Amino acid sequence: MHDFKYKNNQLCCEKIKVHDLVERFGTPLHIYSYNTLTDHYIKLRNAFSEIKPLICYSVKANSNLAILKVLVDKGAGLDIVSGGELFRALKAGCPAKRIVYASVGKTEAEIATAISKGILFFNVESLSELRSIDSIAGQLDKITRVAIRINPDVEAKTHKFITTGKITNKFGIDLNNAYKILLLRNKFRNVKICGLHIHIGSQITESAPFVAAIEKVTGFIKKLGARGIKLEYLNIGGGLGIIYDKEAPQTAQVYADEVVPLLKSTGLSIIMEPGRFIVGNAGILVAKVLYIKTTPKKKFIIVDCGMNDLIRPALYDAYHNILPLRKISKSEKADLVGPICESGDFLAKERLIAKVKEGDYLAVMSTGAYGFSMSSNYNSRLRAAEVMVNKNKVSVIRKRETYADIVRNELFFKAE
Ligand SMILES: *Cc1c(COP(=O)(O)O)cnc(C)c1O
Repeated sequence: MHDFKYKNNQLCCEKIKVHDLVERFGTPLHIYSYNTLTDHYIKLRNAFSEIKPLICYSVKANSNLAILKVLVDKGAGLDIVSGGELFRALKAGCPAKRIVYASVGKTEAEIATAISKGILFFNVESLSELRSIDSIAGQLDKITRVAIRINPDVEAKTHKFITTGKITNKFGIDLNNAYKILLLRNKFRNVKICGLHIHIGSQITESAPFVAAIEKVTGFIKKLGARGIKLEYLNIGGGLGIIYDKEAPQTAQVYADEVVPLLKSTGLSIIMEPGRFIVGNAGILVAKVLYIKTTPKKKFIIVDCGMNDLIRPALYDAYHNILPLRKISKSEKADLVGPICESGDFLAKERLIAKVKEGDYLAVMSTGAYGFSMSSNYNSRLRAAEVMVNKNKVSVIRKRETYADIVRNELFFKAE
Protein backbone atom coordinates (compact mmCIF):
# COMPACT_ATOMS: atom_id res chain seq x y z
CA MET A 1 0.00 0.00 0.00
CA HIS A 2 1.21 3.49 -0.77
CA ASP A 3 -0.14 6.94 -1.52
CA PHE A 4 1.51 7.56 -4.90
CA LYS A 5 -1.35 7.12 -7.36
CA TYR A 6 -2.52 8.53 -10.66
CA LYS A 7 -5.51 10.87 -10.45
CA ASN A 8 -6.75 12.16 -13.82
CA ASN A 9 -3.57 10.69 -15.34
CA GLN A 10 -1.34 12.79 -13.05
CA LEU A 11 0.87 11.07 -10.50
CA CYS A 12 -0.01 12.40 -7.05
CA CYS A 13 1.45 12.04 -3.60
CA GLU A 14 -1.58 12.01 -1.34
CA LYS A 15 -3.50 15.10 -2.53
CA ILE A 16 -0.66 16.89 -4.32
CA LYS A 17 0.48 16.51 -7.91
CA VAL A 18 4.09 15.37 -8.03
CA HIS A 19 4.55 17.69 -11.01
CA ASP A 20 3.70 20.70 -8.82
CA LEU A 21 6.30 19.57 -6.30
CA VAL A 22 9.13 19.27 -8.82
CA GLU A 23 8.24 22.61 -10.40
CA ARG A 24 8.46 24.16 -6.95
CA PHE A 25 11.45 22.33 -5.43
CA GLY A 26 13.45 21.18 -8.47
CA THR A 27 15.01 17.78 -9.13
CA PRO A 28 16.33 15.34 -8.08
CA LEU A 29 13.68 15.39 -5.38
CA HIS A 30 12.81 12.82 -2.72
CA ILE A 31 9.11 12.94 -1.87
CA TYR A 32 7.68 11.10 1.14
CA SER A 33 4.08 10.41 2.06
CA TYR A 34 3.32 10.94 5.73
CA ASN A 35 0.25 8.73 5.48
CA THR A 36 2.15 5.80 3.94
CA LEU A 37 4.94 6.13 6.49
CA THR A 38 2.67 6.08 9.52
CA ASP A 39 0.31 3.52 8.02
CA HIS A 40 3.11 0.94 7.75
CA TYR A 41 4.17 1.52 11.32
CA ILE A 42 0.59 1.18 12.54
CA LYS A 43 0.00 -1.97 10.44
CA LEU A 44 2.95 -3.64 12.11
CA ARG A 45 1.94 -2.46 15.56
CA ASN A 46 -1.61 -3.74 15.07
CA ALA A 47 -0.46 -7.10 13.68
CA PHE A 48 1.63 -7.64 16.82
CA SER A 49 -0.80 -6.03 19.29
CA GLU A 50 -1.15 -9.27 21.24
CA ILE A 51 2.46 -9.10 22.44
CA LYS A 52 3.02 -5.33 22.24
CA PRO A 53 6.64 -5.36 21.05
CA LEU A 54 8.82 -2.27 21.16
CA ILE A 55 9.13 -1.42 17.46
CA CYS A 56 12.57 0.11 17.02
CA TYR A 57 12.61 1.64 13.54
CA SER A 58 15.97 1.01 11.88
CA VAL A 59 17.50 4.46 11.44
CA LYS A 60 19.86 3.50 8.63
CA ALA A 61 16.96 2.84 6.24
CA ASN A 62 16.18 6.56 6.22
CA SER A 63 17.71 8.72 8.90
CA ASN A 64 16.11 12.09 8.17
CA LEU A 65 15.26 13.74 11.51
CA ALA A 66 11.71 14.52 10.42
CA ILE A 67 11.06 10.86 9.60
CA LEU A 68 12.56 9.72 12.90
CA LYS A 69 10.44 12.22 14.80
CA VAL A 70 7.19 11.15 13.09
CA LEU A 71 7.82 7.56 14.19
CA VAL A 72 9.11 8.42 17.66
CA ASP A 73 5.99 10.55 18.23
CA LYS A 74 3.89 7.49 17.35
CA GLY A 75 5.68 5.55 20.08
CA ALA A 76 8.45 3.87 18.10
CA GLY A 77 11.92 3.25 19.47
CA LEU A 78 15.01 3.36 17.24
CA ASP A 79 17.58 0.80 16.15
CA ILE A 80 20.95 2.49 15.62
CA VAL A 81 24.29 1.34 14.20
CA SER A 82 26.65 4.25 14.93
CA GLY A 83 27.40 7.26 17.09
CA GLY A 84 26.02 9.46 14.32
CA GLU A 85 22.73 7.60 14.44
CA LEU A 86 22.67 7.93 18.25
CA PHE A 87 23.08 11.68 17.80
CA ARG A 88 20.20 11.74 15.32
CA ALA A 89 18.00 9.54 17.52
CA LEU A 90 18.40 11.82 20.53
CA LYS A 91 17.98 14.95 18.40
CA ALA A 92 14.71 13.53 17.08
CA GLY A 93 13.54 13.27 20.69
CA CYS A 94 13.75 9.50 21.10
CA PRO A 95 13.95 8.56 24.78
CA ALA A 96 17.27 6.74 25.36
CA LYS A 97 15.34 3.84 26.89
CA ARG A 98 13.83 3.13 23.47
CA ILE A 99 17.19 2.89 21.66
CA VAL A 100 19.01 -0.36 20.80
CA TYR A 101 22.47 -0.32 19.27
CA ALA A 102 23.91 -2.96 16.89
CA SER A 103 27.14 -2.92 14.81
CA VAL A 104 30.16 -5.20 14.58
CA GLY A 105 32.51 -2.23 14.95
CA LYS A 106 31.42 0.07 17.76
CA THR A 107 34.28 2.35 18.83
CA GLU A 108 35.21 3.17 22.44
CA ALA A 109 33.87 6.69 22.03
CA GLU A 110 30.59 5.44 20.60
CA ILE A 111 30.18 2.91 23.39
CA ALA A 112 30.97 5.47 26.09
CA THR A 113 28.43 7.97 24.74
CA ALA A 114 25.71 5.32 24.41
CA ILE A 115 26.32 4.18 28.00
CA SER A 116 26.27 7.74 29.33
CA LYS A 117 23.02 8.49 27.52
CA GLY A 118 21.48 5.33 29.01
CA ILE A 119 20.30 3.42 25.94
CA LEU A 120 18.10 0.35 26.46
CA PHE A 121 20.86 -2.06 25.43
CA PHE A 122 23.67 -2.88 23.03
CA ASN A 123 23.33 -5.75 20.58
CA VAL A 124 26.77 -7.27 21.10
CA GLU A 125 28.44 -8.94 18.12
CA SER A 126 31.65 -10.45 19.56
CA LEU A 127 33.36 -11.47 22.80
CA SER A 128 35.95 -8.71 22.35
CA GLU A 129 33.21 -6.13 22.05
CA LEU A 130 31.54 -7.45 25.20
CA ARG A 131 34.83 -7.11 27.11
CA SER A 132 35.24 -3.62 25.76
CA ILE A 133 31.72 -2.56 26.80
CA ASP A 134 32.32 -4.07 30.26
CA SER A 135 35.54 -2.16 30.73
CA ILE A 136 34.16 1.16 29.45
CA ALA A 137 31.09 0.82 31.68
CA GLY A 138 33.46 0.15 34.58
CA GLN A 139 35.43 3.33 33.88
CA LEU A 140 32.14 5.26 33.80
CA ASP A 141 31.04 3.52 37.01
CA LYS A 142 27.88 2.28 35.32
CA ILE A 143 26.13 -1.03 34.81
CA THR A 144 25.00 -1.34 31.21
CA ARG A 145 22.81 -3.88 29.48
CA VAL A 146 23.47 -5.97 26.40
CA ALA A 147 21.74 -8.53 24.22
CA ILE A 148 23.89 -11.12 22.50
CA ARG A 149 23.43 -11.03 18.74
CA ILE A 150 23.08 -14.62 17.63
CA ASN A 151 24.13 -15.71 14.18
CA PRO A 152 21.54 -18.48 13.69
CA ASP A 153 23.08 -19.74 10.42
CA VAL A 154 19.92 -19.59 8.35
CA GLU A 155 19.52 -18.77 4.68
CA ALA A 156 17.44 -15.61 4.28
CA LYS A 157 16.85 -16.13 0.54
CA THR A 158 17.69 -12.58 -0.44
CA HIS A 159 20.53 -10.77 -2.24
CA LYS A 160 23.90 -12.01 -0.97
CA PHE A 161 24.99 -8.49 0.06
CA ILE A 162 22.00 -8.20 2.40
CA THR A 163 21.99 -11.59 4.08
CA THR A 164 23.41 -11.34 7.58
CA GLY A 165 22.43 -14.56 9.34
CA LYS A 166 24.69 -17.12 7.66
CA ILE A 167 27.65 -18.36 9.64
CA THR A 168 29.99 -16.98 6.95
CA ASN A 169 28.64 -13.44 7.51
CA LYS A 170 30.49 -11.10 9.88
CA PHE A 171 27.45 -10.57 12.11
CA GLY A 172 26.60 -12.02 15.49
CA ILE A 173 27.91 -14.93 17.53
CA ASP A 174 27.28 -18.61 16.84
CA LEU A 175 25.16 -20.54 19.34
CA ASN A 176 28.06 -22.49 20.86
CA ASN A 177 30.10 -19.42 21.60
CA ALA A 178 27.04 -17.53 22.78
CA TYR A 179 26.38 -20.36 25.24
CA LYS A 180 29.94 -20.17 26.57
CA ILE A 181 29.64 -16.42 27.00
CA LEU A 182 26.35 -16.77 28.85
CA LEU A 183 27.87 -19.33 31.23
CA LEU A 184 30.57 -16.75 32.00
CA ARG A 185 28.07 -13.91 32.38
CA ASN A 186 29.01 -13.10 35.97
CA LYS A 187 32.60 -12.37 34.94
CA PHE A 188 31.41 -9.18 33.25
CA ARG A 189 30.93 -7.01 36.29
CA ASN A 190 29.57 -3.92 34.60
CA VAL A 191 27.42 -5.62 32.02
CA LYS A 192 24.11 -7.35 32.46
CA ILE A 193 23.26 -9.76 29.64
CA CYS A 194 19.52 -9.21 29.36
CA GLY A 195 18.57 -10.69 26.03
CA LEU A 196 19.25 -12.17 22.63
CA HIS A 197 19.15 -10.51 19.22
CA ILE A 198 18.86 -11.83 15.68
CA HIS A 199 18.72 -10.00 12.35
CA ILE A 200 19.11 -12.38 9.42
CA GLY A 201 19.03 -10.01 6.46
CA SER A 202 16.93 -7.60 4.49
CA GLN A 203 14.18 -7.68 1.83
CA ILE A 204 13.05 -11.12 3.01
CA THR A 205 9.74 -11.91 1.35
CA GLU A 206 8.78 -15.19 3.04
CA SER A 207 8.16 -16.03 6.68
CA ALA A 208 10.03 -19.33 6.63
CA PRO A 209 13.56 -17.93 7.23
CA PHE A 210 12.27 -15.80 10.13
CA VAL A 211 10.50 -18.78 11.64
CA ALA A 212 13.63 -20.93 11.25
CA ALA A 213 15.79 -18.32 12.98
CA ILE A 214 13.30 -17.69 15.77
CA GLU A 215 12.90 -21.44 16.37
CA LYS A 216 16.66 -21.71 16.77
CA VAL A 217 16.78 -18.99 19.41
CA THR A 218 13.67 -20.12 21.23
CA GLY A 219 15.26 -23.57 21.54
CA PHE A 220 18.38 -21.88 22.84
CA ILE A 221 16.39 -19.82 25.35
CA LYS A 222 14.89 -23.07 26.73
CA LYS A 223 18.36 -24.55 27.07
CA LEU A 224 19.51 -21.45 28.95
CA GLY A 225 16.44 -21.59 31.18
CA ALA A 226 17.33 -25.14 32.13
CA ARG A 227 20.72 -23.81 33.30
CA GLY A 228 19.01 -21.12 35.35
CA ILE A 229 19.94 -18.34 32.94
CA LYS A 230 17.01 -15.93 32.76
CA LEU A 231 16.64 -13.25 30.10
CA GLU A 232 14.24 -10.32 29.67
CA TYR A 233 14.31 -9.48 25.96
CA LEU A 234 14.23 -11.14 22.58
CA ASN A 235 15.04 -8.79 19.70
CA ILE A 236 13.94 -10.34 16.40
CA GLY A 237 15.54 -7.70 14.14
CA GLY A 238 14.09 -6.38 10.89
CA GLY A 239 14.29 -7.58 7.32
CA LEU A 240 10.65 -7.66 6.18
CA GLY A 241 10.51 -7.38 2.40
CA ILE A 242 8.38 -4.99 0.38
CA ILE A 243 7.04 -4.83 -3.18
CA TYR A 244 9.45 -3.26 -5.67
CA ASP A 245 8.42 -5.25 -8.73
CA LYS A 246 6.43 -8.49 -8.71
CA GLU A 247 7.32 -9.69 -5.23
CA ALA A 248 4.45 -10.96 -3.10
CA PRO A 249 5.94 -10.48 0.36
CA GLN A 250 4.23 -11.73 3.49
CA THR A 251 2.04 -9.04 5.01
CA ALA A 252 2.64 -7.81 8.54
CA GLN A 253 -0.34 -9.90 9.63
CA VAL A 254 0.90 -13.12 8.02
CA TYR A 255 4.33 -12.55 9.54
CA ALA A 256 2.78 -11.94 12.95
CA ASP A 257 0.52 -15.00 12.69
CA GLU A 258 3.60 -17.14 11.99
CA VAL A 259 5.90 -15.83 14.68
CA VAL A 260 3.73 -14.56 17.55
CA PRO A 261 3.01 -18.05 18.98
CA LEU A 262 6.75 -18.78 19.06
CA LEU A 263 7.54 -15.42 20.61
CA LYS A 264 4.82 -15.74 23.24
CA SER A 265 6.20 -19.12 24.31
CA THR A 266 9.44 -17.42 25.41
CA GLY A 267 7.67 -15.15 27.91
CA LEU A 268 10.21 -12.45 27.00
CA SER A 269 9.59 -8.82 26.02
CA ILE A 270 9.87 -8.59 22.24
CA ILE A 271 11.72 -5.96 20.25
CA MET A 272 11.70 -5.66 16.49
CA GLU A 273 13.74 -3.50 14.12
CA PRO A 274 11.94 -2.90 10.82
CA GLY A 275 13.44 -0.36 8.42
CA ARG A 276 12.53 -0.98 4.80
CA PHE A 277 9.01 -2.22 5.64
CA ILE A 278 8.14 1.11 7.24
CA VAL A 279 9.75 3.61 4.93
CA GLY A 280 10.49 1.81 1.63
CA ASN A 281 7.23 2.44 -0.21
CA ALA A 282 6.71 5.79 1.52
CA GLY A 283 9.17 7.59 -0.74
CA ILE A 284 9.87 8.25 -4.41
CA LEU A 285 12.73 10.00 -6.19
CA VAL A 286 11.88 12.25 -9.12
CA ALA A 287 14.36 13.04 -11.90
CA LYS A 288 14.23 15.28 -14.96
CA VAL A 289 14.95 13.90 -18.41
CA LEU A 290 17.96 15.82 -19.71
CA TYR A 291 18.70 14.05 -22.97
CA ILE A 292 17.53 11.12 -25.01
CA LYS A 293 20.32 9.44 -26.86
CA THR A 294 20.05 6.67 -29.43
CA THR A 295 23.15 4.64 -30.16
CA PRO A 296 23.49 1.82 -32.72
CA LYS A 297 22.62 -0.70 -30.01
CA LYS A 298 20.53 1.10 -27.43
CA LYS A 299 18.40 3.96 -26.35
CA PHE A 300 19.48 5.89 -23.28
CA ILE A 301 17.29 8.19 -21.24
CA ILE A 302 19.70 10.45 -19.38
CA VAL A 303 18.30 12.04 -16.23
CA ASP A 304 19.63 14.50 -13.63
CA CYS A 305 19.69 11.85 -10.91
CA GLY A 306 22.51 9.37 -10.54
CA MET A 307 23.97 6.56 -8.50
CA ASN A 308 25.03 9.15 -5.92
CA ASP A 309 21.30 9.75 -5.29
CA LEU A 310 20.23 6.10 -5.45
CA ILE A 311 22.89 3.43 -5.38
CA ARG A 312 20.63 0.37 -5.02
CA PRO A 313 20.54 -0.53 -8.73
CA ALA A 314 24.35 -0.37 -8.98
CA LEU A 315 25.02 -2.03 -5.64
CA TYR A 316 22.37 -4.75 -5.51
CA ASP A 317 21.09 -4.83 -9.07
CA ALA A 318 17.87 -3.65 -7.45
CA TYR A 319 14.67 -3.07 -9.39
CA HIS A 320 12.73 0.17 -9.03
CA ASN A 321 9.59 0.85 -10.98
CA ILE A 322 9.86 3.93 -13.24
CA LEU A 323 6.74 5.99 -13.86
CA PRO A 324 6.04 9.17 -15.83
CA LEU A 325 4.35 12.01 -13.94
CA ARG A 326 1.63 12.17 -16.56
CA LYS A 327 0.40 8.82 -17.83
CA ILE A 328 1.74 8.06 -21.29
CA SER A 329 0.27 5.14 -23.19
CA LYS A 330 3.33 4.40 -25.35
CA SER A 331 6.49 2.90 -23.96
CA GLU A 332 9.78 1.74 -25.35
CA LYS A 333 12.80 -0.17 -24.20
CA ALA A 334 15.64 1.96 -22.85
CA ASP A 335 18.35 2.26 -20.23
CA LEU A 336 17.66 4.94 -17.65
CA VAL A 337 21.02 6.42 -16.68
CA GLY A 338 22.46 9.30 -14.68
CA PRO A 339 25.15 11.87 -15.45
CA ILE A 340 27.92 10.21 -13.41
CA CYS A 341 31.14 9.03 -15.01
CA GLU A 342 30.63 5.33 -14.32
CA SER A 343 28.92 2.64 -16.36
CA GLY A 344 27.39 1.44 -13.09
CA ASP A 345 25.42 4.68 -13.00
CA PHE A 346 22.00 3.39 -14.00
CA LEU A 347 18.53 3.34 -12.52
CA ALA A 348 17.05 0.78 -14.92
CA LYS A 349 18.41 -1.34 -17.75
CA GLU A 350 16.71 -2.68 -20.87
CA ARG A 351 13.40 -1.59 -19.42
CA LEU A 352 10.10 -0.71 -21.06
CA ILE A 353 9.78 2.91 -19.99
CA ALA A 354 7.06 5.41 -20.85
CA LYS A 355 7.92 7.30 -24.03
CA VAL A 356 9.10 10.54 -22.46
CA LYS A 357 10.54 13.67 -24.06
CA GLU A 358 13.48 15.78 -23.01
CA GLY A 359 12.30 18.05 -20.19
CA ASP A 360 9.76 15.52 -18.86
CA TYR A 361 10.08 13.98 -15.43
CA LEU A 362 10.28 10.37 -14.28
CA ALA A 363 9.49 9.02 -10.83
CA VAL A 364 11.68 6.24 -9.43
CA MET A 365 9.32 4.38 -7.11
CA SER A 366 9.90 2.85 -3.65
CA THR A 367 13.07 4.77 -2.84
CA GLY A 368 12.15 5.62 0.77
CA ALA A 369 14.52 3.03 2.26
CA TYR A 370 18.26 2.97 1.53
CA GLY A 371 17.74 5.82 -0.95
CA PHE A 372 18.81 9.14 0.50
CA SER A 373 20.54 7.45 3.44
CA MET A 374 23.03 5.79 1.06
CA SER A 375 23.52 8.89 -1.08
CA SER A 376 26.85 10.65 -1.54
CA ASN A 377 28.47 13.66 -3.13
CA TYR A 378 30.33 11.61 -5.75
CA ASN A 379 31.21 13.70 -8.81
CA SER A 380 30.72 16.69 -6.44
CA ARG A 381 27.02 16.45 -6.99
CA LEU A 382 24.73 18.14 -4.51
CA ARG A 383 22.62 15.82 -2.45
CA ALA A 384 18.93 16.12 -3.24
CA ALA A 385 16.20 17.92 -1.33
CA GLU A 386 13.62 15.91 0.62
CA VAL A 387 10.00 16.90 1.14
CA MET A 388 7.18 15.32 3.15
CA VAL A 389 3.58 15.48 1.98
CA ASN A 390 0.68 15.25 4.39
CA LYS A 391 -2.68 15.36 2.54
CA ASN A 392 -2.52 18.69 0.67
CA LYS A 393 0.41 20.15 2.63
CA VAL A 394 4.11 19.86 1.89
CA SER A 395 7.14 20.54 4.11
CA VAL A 396 10.79 20.61 3.18
CA ILE A 397 12.54 18.16 5.50
CA ARG A 398 15.98 18.59 3.97
CA LYS A 399 17.17 21.51 1.92
CA ARG A 400 19.03 20.84 -1.29
CA GLU A 401 22.77 21.13 -0.69
CA THR A 402 24.75 24.07 -2.01
CA TYR A 403 28.26 24.14 -3.46
CA ALA A 404 29.40 25.81 -0.24
CA ASP A 405 28.05 22.80 1.69
CA ILE A 406 30.14 20.31 -0.24
CA VAL A 407 33.48 22.04 0.45
CA ARG A 408 32.61 23.12 3.99
CA ASN A 409 35.23 20.98 5.75
CA GLU A 410 38.02 21.25 3.21
CA LEU A 411 41.21 23.23 3.89
CA PHE A 412 44.02 24.32 1.63
CA PHE A 413 47.39 22.80 2.37
CA LYS A 414 50.33 25.12 2.95
CA ALA A 415 53.59 23.69 1.66
CA GLU A 416 56.05 25.78 3.72
C1 LIG B 1 19.64 -2.86 8.76
C2 LIG B 1 19.18 -3.47 10.01
C3 LIG B 1 17.81 -3.56 10.29
C4 LIG B 1 16.73 -3.13 9.33
O1 LIG B 1 16.63 -3.96 8.22
P1 LIG B 1 15.40 -3.80 7.20
O2 LIG B 1 15.64 -4.83 6.18
O3 LIG B 1 15.47 -2.42 6.63
O4 LIG B 1 14.15 -4.02 7.97
C5 LIG B 1 17.44 -4.08 11.52
N1 LIG B 1 18.36 -4.50 12.43
C6 LIG B 1 19.68 -4.43 12.18
C7 LIG B 1 20.63 -4.89 13.22
C8 LIG B 1 20.13 -3.92 10.98
O5 LIG B 1 21.44 -3.86 10.73
